[in-house]
Amino acid sequence: VVVYDQVRKNYGSFVAIDGVSVQVNKGEVMCLIGPSGSGKSTLLRCTNALERINGGRVMFDGQPLPETEGEMRKIRQRMGMVFQNFELFPHKSALDNVAMGPITVLGLSESKARERAMALLEKVGLGNKAGNYPASLSGGQQQRVAIARALAMEPEVMLFDEPTSALDPETIGEVLNVMKRLADEGMTMVVVTHEMTFARQVADWVVVFDHGKVVEQGPPAQIFDNPTAERTRDFLGHLG
Ligand code: ATP
Ligand code: MG
Repeated sequence: VVVYDQVRKNYGSFVAIDGVSVQVNKGEVMCLIGPSGSGKSTLLRCTNALERINGGRVMFDGQPLPETEGEMRKIRQRMGMVFQNFELFPHKSALDNVAMGPITVLGLSESKARERAMALLEKVGLGNKAGNYPASLSGGQQQRVAIARALAMEPEVMLFDEPTSALDPETIGEVLNVMKRLADEGMTMVVVTHEMTFARQVADWVVVFDHGKVVEQGPPAQIFDNPTAERTRDFLGHLG
């Protein structure tokens, strides 16, 4: 679904992504791991052109990402993105947060959109919190609303950037469970994460970054049990 071909991204003279070639297939989960500053978020942001690449290609569904912002906006609608800090609309209920995109962007009727939103809130275990405002939800609940909001646009791929790293430990599991269920249902996902247990259990493909380069990629069993690159062993070793 998404193919990264020799992708390069510079910030001035600093090379943040240095010739990265990886791909995520339909229905599969690719986890990006690696030390802080290694380029994981940057690659994710290049996927939906929040950042423009300086070299190589990002292909979505067989086509290179369009150049113009207008065309890119249409592509972006087909990609859901979930960030570390949820970024819900504070003055809207959980239900309205989820229903808004389908109404304003997809042109669904209010009643259809609310029906869809309610079903999605139930799917992420928040059917009883539909009327709550974000401030009255836990971090894990807010993040599950954010996931429901992304799903409401019926994306073909979901991009997650450390969705649990701002959460209290006790709410991390509920978010990972929702993500795991999504993966089991066949959603194509790119997940930047420090949750190695999740990566091992859920990923089909794990990519290890260091200094803007891929040092190793493969199925989780290979990466976690039999890493070939010294840098992978160092990185996993540091995590204890
Ligand atoms: P973390 O695990 O801490 O989130 P990361 O792997 O996601 O790290 P990135 O955020 O992709 O790392 O950053 C890669 C490198 O690019 C870092 O050295 C960062 O300082 C640099 N960088 C990222 N965004 C910018 C920017 N807008 N301008 C300049 N440098 C940037
Ligand atoms: Mg990051």
